[in-house]
Amino acid sequence: MPGVIAKVEPLTAARALRGPFDYRLGAGMEGVDVGSMLVVPFGRQRLLGVVVGMSDRSDVPEERLVEPLTTLDPEVPPELVRLGLWVAEEYCSTPARGLQLVLPPGTGRGARPRVRPRMLLAAELTRAGREAIIAGAGGPRQRAALEALRRGCRTVADVCREAACSHQTLRSLERRGLVRLERVELARRPDLVTVGARGPASLELTPAQRDALAEIVARLDAPEPGGPLLLHGVTGSGKTEVYLQAVAAALERGRSAIVLVPEIALTPQTAARFERRFGDLVAVLHSKLGAGARYDEWSRLRRGEARVCVGPRSAVFAPVRDLGLIVIDEEHDPSYKQDGDPRYDARRVAERRAADAGAVLVAGSATPRPESWRAMRRLTMPERVDGRALPPVEIVGMLGTRGPLHARTREALDEVRARGEKAIVLLNRRGWSSFLSCRVCGRVWECPQCDVTLVLHRAAGVVSCHHCGHEEPAPRSCPECGSVSVGRHGIGTERLERELSELVAPLPVFRLDSDAAAERGAVARTLERFDSAPAGVLIGTQMVAKGHDFPDVTLGVVLDADATLRFPDFRAEERAFALVAQLAGRSGRGPRGGRVIVQAIDPEARPLVYASRHDARGFAESELARREALRYPPFAHLIRVVCGCEQQGPELAAAEAVREAIRAPGAAVLGPAPLFRLKGRERAQLVVKALDRAAAIAAVRRAVERAAGEFSKRGVTFSVDVDPQ
Ligand code: ADP
Ligand code: ZN
Ligand code: ZN
Repeated sequence: MPGVIAKVEPLTAARALRGPFDYRLGAGMEGVDVGSMLVVPFGRQRLLGVVVGMSDRSDVPEERLVEPLTTLDPEVPPELVRLGLWVAEEYCSTPARGLQLVLPPGTGRGARPRVRPRMLLAAELTRAGREAIIAGAGGPRQRAALEALRRGCRTVADVCREAACSHQTLRSLERRGLVRLERVELARRPDLVTVGARGPASLELTPAQRDALAEIVARLDAPEPGGPLLLHGVTGSGKTEVYLQAVAAALERGRSAIVLVPEIALTPQTAARFERRFGDLVAVLHSKLGAGARYDEWSRLRRGEARVCVGPRSAVFAPVRDLGLIVIDEEHDPSYKQDGDPRYDARRVAERRAADAGAVLVAGSATPRPESWRAMRRLTMPERVDGRALPPVEIVGMLGTRGPLHARTREALDEVRARGEKAIVLLNRRGWSSFLSCRVCGRVWECPQCDVTLVLHRAAGVVSCHHCGHEEPAPRSCPECGSVSVGRHGIGTERLERELSELVAPLPVFRLDSDAAAERGAVARTLERFDSAPAGVLIGTQMVAKGHDFPDVTLGVVLDADATLRFPDFRAEERAFALVAQLAGRSGRGPRGGRVIVQAIDPEARPLVYASRHDARGFAESELARREALRYPPFAHLIRVVCGCEQQGPELAAAEAVREAIRAPGAAVLGPAPLFRLKGRERAQLVVKALDRAAAIAAVRRAVERAAGEFSKRGVTFSVDVDPQ
């Protein structure tokens, strides 16, 4: 008689291990259930595992069943265990990697969580203590300590500092029954949080906002929330206020909310608005948080102390209770897709989680993705809150022009300078120049690890690879021929900053790109400085187009707007449209109005033309027609398989083998096609196009597993990306 059996998925990196494995629960393990974390013996190792199922029988022979060693706190909510396993399936990953997403932050693969709650000793007056103050009892140190506690519970460390006493003093007061000492868990709150007072009350909504909110609230109150909603509101239409009031409505109904934002560091304004409105009910999860703070925010959500979670894609796994609402702000943003395994898309995971929890899903954007446009019910907010028109956009052709700026752009920037106004200039390329070549022998500086050119970063004095991070000192001469004539080609944000500084002097120029943002808090500081400056120019990569709300920008400029259209990627159109329309949305939010100039090689490019008319509907519909004709998502599903190897050859053979092994009726397999070498690995790619998503994923999984059996020995690695971006 086996008793109670826990099905445990061990958290191991090994892809080949197929759990779950059965463990018998002995005495003291009665509380174990789905979501419990256990330390289990596994062969000769001990591993951390998650209980994914319970049973009263096992196929393992009685004498071979072993018991877990210990249980660990805290437990993972069972619905998150299901979600983690679903992600693993859906994105062709392993259960361990799927589960890792839903575990408390800091949980490693080792046998114990790395992060522990921070405990503090706190002191509080007892009734006898209060009477002792009145009676003036005790020596001077003791009286000072009691005095310091008059206003309420304090940490022992604080009391000692204020009363200039020692721990001993407090211990003896405790023995005399005058204070109570207790170990409490202290939440390490991220410094972004403004703890305390609830912020400004809700704004009076515009009619469009009211209608949108009414529909969301009706869904909250309906027995079934229905499918996802798309809040399509032009830039400045007040989407955030709708989210805020929708979250408030969920809270009033005793439910919780998750608000996904592209990246907190880039959109500090949005996160801050939630914190000001809901105070301590908000927990913020973001990538720059220390492990301790992250763990504490997670625990506050788990315990139900915090009921609104604001964070980037990983916040979709936040352990909130009674989930009522998920908001996806700027739903078009590519950062919702995870780059490494599991390559999940938080937008899809959010849909799944909302459906599971009976929660309402609201995805918002001024430039929705074509697939959302097609699949979701739309709530439209066609005008800016202040009734101002969207700025006029002019596209200028760059063929035959010299230098990075068109004459029209120069004129416009000069006007900004003369009138003391503000401009934002977007160039989606970092560094000084994008490649170097020898003017004598033609040598091009390339990455030794990847087949790409090295980018010059002049201030840092290096050339670096933007794919693998390889860096070397900027060359003074050519190592092949000794010539000192090294040509610099192409322009990046660093050089643009220099050129613009001269052009608009004495106005200040601020730069925002990942080089300038490397330092913690740098993004917020730069945005803040630009915001508070009376006049100036903000230049940078796509970071400058992300949802910022500056009231007094009168000019927006996009350089090289069709650069991405020259790459073979079916999402390039969508990206170019969103980038230009989003940047355009930053301009003209104030009384002076504004305008936008878009520089492109091909001024007729469809996404740019639609963006210049602020026509998200026109773009989405034409893009859907194109994709339907080409059978691209959402009319088919794509799965990308990349095989990599240090030697040239095996990667192609492995891709061929995967291709041969894929048995999915109705699916087309394209490739193998060679990709450029990356981080010292030769790569080959297959793309599977299929109508039946689940069948195709299963077929690819089987094919990769079979090929991995043969090719792993030869050093080939496989990566599978479902819905590649
Ligand atoms: P979006 O996210 O749609 O681009 P925001 O949420 O940033 O727009 O709103 C733009 C500006 O309008 C913000 O400064 C916001 O405070 C303000 N705003 C939003 N709703 C209202 C309202 N109902 N009344 C007055 N101002 C509002
Ligand atoms: Zn040379
Ligand atoms: Zn490289």
